[in-house]
Amino acid sequence: MHAQGGRRTGRVRQAFSDSPVAEAGWGWQSDYGGEAVLHSYSRSHRQQTARSVMTQVETVRGPVDTAALGRTYMHEHIFVLTPDVQQNYPDEWGDEDSRVEDAVQKLNELATRGVSTIVDPTVIGLGRYIPRIQRIAAQVPDLNIVVATGCYTYGDVPFFFHYRGPALEAALGQPVPDPMVDMFVGDITEGIAGTGVKAGMLKCAIDEQGMTGGVERVMRAVAKAHRRTGTPITIHTHPGSRQGLAAKRVLDDEGVDPRRVVLGHSGDSSDADHLQALAEAGFVLGMDRFGINLETTFEARADTVVEMCRRGFAENMVLAHDAACYIDWIEPWALAATPQWHYLHIIDDVLPYLLDKGVTEDQIETMLTGNPRRIFENVEPY
Ligand SMILES: [Zn+2]
Repeated sequence: MHAQGGRRTGRVRQAFSDSPVAEAGWGWQSDYGGEAVLHSYSRSHRQQTARSVMTQVETVRGPVDTAALGRTYMHEHIFVLTPDVQQNYPDEWGDEDSRVEDAVQKLNELATRGVSTIVDPTVIGLGRYIPRIQRIAAQVPDLNIVVATGCYTYGDVPFFFHYRGPALEAALGQPVPDPMVDMFVGDITEGIAGTGVKAGMLKCAIDEQGMTGGVERVMRAVAKAHRRTGTPITIHTHPGSRQGLAAKRVLDDEGVDPRRVVLGHSGDSSDADHLQALAEAGFVLGMDRFGINLETTFEARADTVVEMCRRGFAENMVLAHDAACYIDWIEPWALAATPQWHYLHIIDDVLPYLLDKGVTEDQIETMLTGNPRRIFENVEPY
């Protein structure tokens, strides 16, 4: 057990700063009367940030000061793949160089439009392959790419884990630690698969099926890795069935601070009261599927952000598309049903709409720059 050994690795290099720049985006702002609701958080947050902490975030090309992250999309994939299918049926994927070239072009275009950082939450179950991402990052000099560790399932754990860790407890008659925890911590502290690239985010998922045994096992492993490293968590959720609340029960049990957790895909719901309850609990809401307008509409997604800003929760939202340069889950021709699902949709369409509906420039910068920065700061084990 190297719980203590994992704590001090030199991964997080920190310097205290009192500069106004370091304070930018901190503290809860409430333009529309949310003060009473957020009062207690406001107080504890100010205490916590009385001396704000400058932190470095691990990216594919190495550590970057949080102050230099700039506009950040907190949930964008580059590739979402099913590796064993791809290895055996590679025809659709085609030429590796062409796929890399396509990603380089799309990501460079995003960077020229003013986005400096993406968080790519592609983990086990989504086809993470860091050498390919390194090759792309080397050709996208103006974009930071933060990669993640964790495991993506809505049901059971991958078969690799079926007879490991807690699965052996019944047979052995004693607690067995989950190997996932050390795997995730190793990705954060030592790097991923000998590439030298360290993960800057933890990821798990819960969908409509709810807190299955596998989902809970992964979530607890992610929570433990978070507590050992301080690395923030992003969770794929299904807000229509209020799975954020199910996640909260397990995270509470593991002692996780909700302010360190992004509830991804919150923007799939337009139930502002539900989203407000999650924000009041401290969570960051991922309004992060702009462009996936199949079960919802562009207006419904954007109006939900407008309403949450109106209620005073700009400090609880981050924006993204959950897009990819290539995802093998979908027939390529079927992607025609989602013409806005690409990296430039927020800049081209969403931000002008938000401004037109009364969201302020300050609130947009809070969602795009201040909140991502805050999530990556004060990163300490606890
Ligand atoms: Zn995703």
